[in-house]
Amino acid sequence: SPARLVLLGELHAAIEAQAAGRSADLTGAPGSASEHAQLEMHYQPKIELASGRTVGFEALLRWRHPTRGVLAPGTFIPLAEQSGLIHEVTELALTETVRQLAVWRAEGRDLPVAVNLSAHDVATPAVVDTVEDLLATYDLPARLLEVEITETAIVADRSRVVPVLHRLRGLGVRVAIDDFGTGTTSISQLRDLPVDELKIDRLFVQDLGEHAREGSEVVVQAMVDLAHSFSLTVVAEGVEDEATAVVLGRLGVDRAQGFLWARPAPATLVAAGAEPAVPH
Ligand code: C2E
Ligand code: CA
Ligand code: CA
Ligand code: CA
Repeated sequence: SPARLVLLGELHAAIEAQAAGRSADLTGAPGSASEHAQLEMHYQPKIELASGRTVGFEALLRWRHPTRGVLAPGTFIPLAEQSGLIHEVTELALTETVRQLAVWRAEGRDLPVAVNLSAHDVATPAVVDTVEDLLATYDLPARLLEVEITETAIVADRSRVVPVLHRLRGLGVRVAIDDFGTGTTSISQLRDLPVDELKIDRLFVQDLGEHAREGSEVVVQAMVDLAHSFSLTVVAEGVEDEATAVVLGRLGVDRAQGFLWARPAPATLVAAGAEPAVPH
């Protein structure tokens, strides 16, 4: 539709302006963000359930549109994927995140941050070079960068994606399977995947807690046991209430994210709050 075409054109312009400003930044002060930036990362903490401590963050893209306000990725990532702009978007997301990681590291905050990659990104090895170059440019240890790829993306193009994931892990980058439970990974496939972390989709998490759906704990317990038997870290997504957090802890889930602890927020707010507040 015409509205989508307009948005796509604006996205293209925003990316170009930001990339141009970015290369200017790099020759000047390495820590500065581009003043042309419209695409920015927000950060949501990953909480260790046993201790209540923040053990890392997930970076989530936002488009600070000049007239439409702050747009969530659901409004423009599919457009970027269909038009082939996704590689530029991913490069901006990775660059901005690694730059922020370097800033936090200089401040003595050494927590890993995960970037979401789209199916298109992991179908070719180019993203491995991008990641390797960025880690070198910002002199950042690879262990501080993680990537998240949906179960569906991995299964859809397994023979091309798996070697890319192997190479990312070869650099020392951690890999997470995102939205787990929504795809069709078999147990034997999961065993052979080069991943470190399994993220249980919000769909399953929402069924726990206060108005629990019957049998939902058994489903999550099975995912946790399976993941742990392959030595994967288990993360629950979309935790909105304390009752759910308690159940997740009892089921052995290692980490969780959700509005219960914090909404995704710009780096400046995350830094100001230091460790995000944890109830109880
Ligand atoms: P995702 O990777 O599954 O990210 C989790 C989504 O759940 C985020 O939505 C987050 O804001 C939201 N969320 C977190 N906690 C809660 C909660 O307690 N309740 C509810 N209802 N929602 C919660 P967001 O930021 O709108 O991102 C949507 C999707 O867009 C992401 O899903 C991811 O697939 C994609 N995405 C985000 N950033 C990027 C990016 O940089 N690159 C690519 N390729 N995709 C991205
Ligand atoms: Ca994710
Ligand atoms: Ca997810
Ligand atoms: Ca999702």
